[in-house]
Amino acid sequence: MNNSKTIIMGGGLWGGLLAYHLTKFRPDINFELHEKDNTLGGNHTWSFHQSDLDSDSFQVIAPFIEKTWKGHSVFFPKHSRSLEMPYCSITSEGFHRVLCESIPSEKLFFKSQIRPEGLTNEIVIDASNQDSLYGKCGYQKFLGIEVELAEEHGLSIPILMDAQVVQKDGYRFIYYLPWTSRRILIEDTRYSNNASLNLIELEADIQSILKQKNWKVEKVLRKESGVLPIPIDPVSSQGNNISINLSGIFHDVTGYSLPDAVRLINELIKIQDWQRSTVLECVNNYRQKRHRDRSFFRLLNRLLFQAAEPKLRYLVLSHFYELSQPLIERFYSGKMNKLDYIRIFMGKPPVKITSAIEAIFLGQKNTEEVL
Ligand SMILES: Cc1cc2nc3c(=O)[nH]c(=O)nc-3n(C[C@H](O)[C@H](O)[C@H](O)COP(=O)(O)OP(=O)(O)OC[C@H]3O[C@@H](n4cnc5c(N)ncnc54)[C@H](O)[C@@H]3O)c2cc1C
Repeated sequence: MNNSKTIIMGGGLWGGLLAYHLTKFRPDINFELHEKDNTLGGNHTWSFHQSDLDSDSFQVIAPFIEKTWKGHSVFFPKHSRSLEMPYCSITSEGFHRVLCESIPSEKLFFKSQIRPEGLTNEIVIDASNQDSLYGKCGYQKFLGIEVELAEEHGLSIPILMDAQVVQKDGYRFIYYLPWTSRRILIEDTRYSNNASLNLIELEADIQSILKQKNWKVEKVLRKESGVLPIPIDPVSSQGNNISINLSGIFHDVTGYSLPDAVRLINELIKIQDWQRSTVLECVNNYRQKRHRDRSFFRLLNRLLFQAAEPKLRYLVLSHFYELSQPLIERFYSGKMNKLDYIRIFMGKPPVKITSAIEAIFLGQKNTEEVL
């Protein structure tokens, strides 16, 4: 066992979860968690499907979960559906609280901005989410506003996609997370070819949704926004020579990273001979395996962003949500099989065959990846 100190750079989702797991399962590893801001977890609502995690991992994450709903629904112009797939959400405040209660305070450093260059004797794990490791990508852009309404909204489960709205800037849908009978997070999301986020326009669009629904806002509680890369080409990072980089590991289509974070951290805490080289090897192996296993997701992204006409992109998702629930669960957890791939492509895709072929071959030429 190497006695070098492990420095976790960044107390967001990855860094916070890693520090939590090390505290719980590896008291032998000497680590510090450094966060440049004064709270852990930033300003997020992190959600995931319970079926994304195995039951042991779920138990470990359970203290962070603010609320679990028994299912969720989706709405498209020609069909809607409710799925009995429990959906869980974590808030940044809860994340910060559980971490501060669990990790010894002498290991937590706030307002501490790390520069890995000087740290040659330490094992530096970069969870700062700063490095841009992506090749060509599309973007998932969103603004969420969490409000307290004057009256009850009437939703008992989240709506993950309401695409019964005007389509603009690519595939557009509204996401509703009903925390209580009057408190709700409403997010306007777009799968767009560009990364520019027009918060004023998005806010105006959310206001008009509130108006249509006749929901009167008593109080705006918080806002969150993001631009997540949705890769078309493979992501390739082996980290630099100094730190071990955890960026760029997420579900290629949805941008969700919580399930991957939990899975990789579960691999990391099993490393007996904890050294820079063994940690780096574990991260790189996970990244490469995941990358190989999920080339299908990047193919889907190419079809979505390069072959489907922007205003018809919603049809890809609409078709997907007509498939069986176990397949949808396997899609979110990243564990699809070859039959699933075929089922996703069966039916009439909303793309011109020439554009589809171009998108597929463009990907192969650029990346040499095969399905
Ligand atoms: C608004 C939003 C909502 C999202 N919702 C979901 C969701 O529902 N489910 C899901 O799975 N994924 C979701 N994602 C995607 C993804 O899970 C998040 O982006 C996630 O927070 C990424 O985790 P991270 O640890 O890599 O980065 P972050 O959570 O961004 O954490 C990085 C941390 O490092 C700190 N930092 C940066 N530089 C330094 C430095 N030099 N020294 C010390 N600290 C530093 C930052 O202050 C920050 O706290 C969402 C993303 C956004 C933006």
